[in-house]
Formats: sequence, C-alpha cells, structure tokens
Amino acid sequence: MTSLPTRPPGPDVGDVVVDWFATAARDLPWRRPGVDAWAVLVSEVMLQQTPVARVEPVWREWLERWPTPSALAAASPAEVIRAWGKLGYPRRALRLRDAAAAIAERHGDVVPADVTALEALPGIGTYTARAVACFGYGQRQPVVDTNVRRVVARLAHGRAEAAPARAADLSDVAALAPDDDARAVRFSVAVMELGALVCVAGTPRCGACPVRDRCAWRLAGSPPHDGPARRVQKFAGTDRQVRGRLLDILRAASEPVDAAALEPAWDDAVQRSRCLDSLLADGLVEQTEDDLFQLPG
Ligand code: SF4
Repeated sequence: MTSLPTRPPGPDVGDVVVDWFATAARDLPWRRPGVDAWAVLVSEVMLQQTPVARVEPVWREWLERWPTPSALAAASPAEVIRAWGKLGYPRRALRLRDAAAAIAERHGDVVPADVTALEALPGIGTYTARAVACFGYGQRQPVVDTNVRRVVARLAHGRAEAAPARAADLSDVAALAPDDDARAVRFSVAVMELGALVCVAGTPRCGACPVRDRCAWRLAGSPPHDGPARRVQKFAGTDRQVRGRLLDILRAASEPVDAAALEPAWDDAVQRSRCLDSLLADGLVEQTEDDLFQLPG
C-alpha cells in the first residue's frame, strides 16, 4: 500500500484546498447557511448518480412538499415515485421514504447526528451518513465519494485513477484535513468540489488546480493509468432506460393500465417484460388483481 507523501513546506494541502473553495465553490442551495440536516440528507440521496442541475429543482419541490421526515413518511409510494421525476435510479426514492419513516419513528422526526445511528437507517451507507454528520451538523468527518477518491489517488498516491473503494479511503482523507475543526468541515466539501470541477475524471484540469505544485501524480510526471480500463456507463438500450420509460407511462396514467398500454415504452417484448418484472420485484410497480399495472399505492 502506498503511504501518504511527506508534507512539503508551506500551508498544508488541506488548507490550500479550503482557501481555493472560498473563491471557486458553486453556490448550491443545500450548502447555504440554515439548511437543516433533513434537507442535507435529501440532497445527498438525490445527488448520488445524478448531476446537480437535475437535482436542484426536484430537491426544492420535495422540501416544500415534505419539509420533515414524517411528512415524507406519510406520502404514498406512488406520490414519492412521481415526485422523483427523471432523477433516475428510482429505488432511491423508496429508500429515502423508508429512512424518513425510521427517523420519524425512532428519532422523534429529527435526523440523527450520530454516524452509527445514521448508518442504521434504511439505505444510508458510509458516504451518506458522514455527509449528513459533516454538512448537516458541522462534524469533522471524512466524506469520501468517487470524486474525492480520485483526488486523493492523484494528489496523495500519485496514481492516475482511484483504486476500488476500501476502508483506508476514510483515513487517507482524514489525514489531509486541516487541524482546525471548522476548516476540516470546509475541507470535506472543498475536496469534493475540487474533484467535481478541477480534478475531474479523464483529463484533470491541472493548470487550474490550487495544489498542482503538491500533487504526487504531477510530480511523478503524470504517469498513465496502469490498471484495467474504466468502464464507460452506457444508457441507450439498457434495462435502466426501459425501466425509466415504463415508469414514465405509469407516472402519467391516472388509472391502472393494461400490458398493451406499456408496449410503446419499448419494442422488444422480451426486454420490456423483463424490465416490468424487475420493477414489480423492486416494489416500484404493482399489479392489480385484474392484471393491470400501476405505481404502488
Ligand atoms: S494537479 Fe491535477 S491531478 Fe493533481 S490534484 Fe490537481 S487537478 Fe488533480
């Protein structure tokens, strides 16, 4: 395992990233002062695998409609799936509703601040639990998503790409955070922003990077990635696309529909049927006694 390089003289890398963030950060609504932990949790679930621009309007609508966990827990699955709109991976909507119900029941309708309690909620993993504790409650926590793992791989380990996720990712990121607690909290969001805007997948924008003179990968001569090629996720023709189209029809329907009404979703009957089965299995669609299909009530 590669160890962290010796820190060079001058401000620590973490402080440099925090100072860069003060001038370069995007103004995102869930980062503004006064945003509570519930709003942070909703944003973090929506932002997994979905770009900021698509999340922002849906996040606003959700919080207006369901300003507390208990409000979301009281909504029907069909309402929640409809409101999820085109964010993709709609199982997240149902898991968020499950988490909301657990928060209402076990925690008095207040999102817990403790990482262990957060991780015990349905659908809340290592990343989301720490993101909520850090961004929602101002706790010093390493928050490690794909962007952060890529930055650390290059900056600290001199590798072009991140290795598969591992437990040591948390200590790697914690080691780069400033000593001051308030700045360490800023660092958690700042390093994520650096990965989203500058140290991007593919070709990083090193000329615009505040830590380019400290970066182990640059100092090593920017060696190419020597592991297996990254898989480029395609969408067209996948079951994910077909599932999305089936859900589009069911979202727009005011009554249960028969199988023939779902045919326009996709020409290939075998793939269409497989995707409908998977939506039924995931609890995103239900079948009535008279063989009609609808969003779950
Ligand atoms: S110098 Fe380039 S590779 Fe290194 S952290 Fe900055 S953007 Fe990433």
